[in-house]
Amino acid sequence: MNYIPSINRYQNMVYNRCGNSGIKLSAISLGLWHNFGDVDDFKNSANIIKTAFDAGITHFDLANNYGPSPGSAEINFGKILKQNFSGYRDEMMISSKAGYTMWPGPYGDWGSKKYLISSLNQSLKRMQLDYVDIFYHHRPDPETPLEETMATLDLIVRQGKALYIGLSNYKTPEFLKAINILKDLGTPCLIHQPKYSMFERWVEESLLNALEQNQVGCIPFSPLAQGLLTNKYLNGIPDNSRLAKPHGFLTSQYATADKITKARKLNLIAAQRNQTLAQMAIAWLLKDQRITSVLVGASSPSQLLDSVKSTENIYFENAELLNIEQALGSSTF
Ligand code: NDP
Repeated sequence: MNYIPSINRYQNMVYNRCGNSGIKLSAISLGLWHNFGDVDDFKNSANIIKTAFDAGITHFDLANNYGPSPGSAEINFGKILKQNFSGYRDEMMISSKAGYTMWPGPYGDWGSKKYLISSLNQSLKRMQLDYVDIFYHHRPDPETPLEETMATLDLIVRQGKALYIGLSNYKTPEFLKAINILKDLGTPCLIHQPKYSMFERWVEESLLNALEQNQVGCIPFSPLAQGLLTNKYLNGIPDNSRLAKPHGFLTSQYATADKITKARKLNLIAAQRNQTLAQMAIAWLLKDQRITSVLVGASSPSQLLDSVKSTENIYFENAELLNIEQALGSSTF
């Protein structure tokens, strides 16, 4: 049967303004880094996207290399759009990125004009789209002049291949340099996509203030520390979890006993708030008004629905915040 989106899809989601732009993003966005590649079950991937859209999620985040194999998440997303969402493109904010290794040789990586233009052309073909809403430079390039990378992002917007520009994994000093170049070119940076969760807090040192001062949005990725900040690993490593899979970047080196102990303590605090640990970890990010949207991953529709419910309570008592800091210990920066 053809998919018909829920008519109530905008009733329960919260939409936050992104910096000082005209764009609002759903408080929860869905990332397609894992679970949408050609190693994954296509029907499940399609069901996750439909569930997201029905829940009011408007923002879907991709990159050239998502899969595995690299590029396959964009291909599958393009098919899902074509099969189910024709007529709904204007209700969606779709992003892609380039910056990591995508093809062999000197033009398939980093931040040159040659790479970024070619990569976005390939991404658009794979997704069967005319444009993306946000195009990100995925990581800073220590060799290419920042002026070349930023001028390319500006050009991409002027060509109509992206509506807005984002930066990801930029530390504060290089971010400030980059956004000033973009401002001068007339294409302001819409949003920054950093890694941020209870377990990864570098952005609190200076980036969040810099984003606020410059009125740029913030969309933290891996808010659940790839699943470690959920109930998933509290009692061992389940089969079919990201940690148990042969591909991906969640390894036992990152999933330390210390993190599991902390997650168990956090899980008790979450229970007192009548939240799952995943919901509390997301709400803990959303409590900060500098956060526009939290970019979650999900391997099933039910996981995503669980995460979406986090928006129902993003208020924390001071005592709860202190308990969370205690559970995390002092090694969070
Ligand atoms: P999360 O930290 O949200 O981890 C997602 C994983 O956590 C899921 O695959 C699932 O694990 C588990 N999970 C999710 N929800 C629940 C729940 N409610 N209950 C229990 N377990 C749950 O995010 P990701 O690491 O997937 O990253 C999210 C997105 O961020 C990516 O898809 C991508 O768009 C973006 N990203 C950007 C990067 C960048 O450099 N800019 C780098 C990395 C990600 P399982 O699969 O084991 O079931």
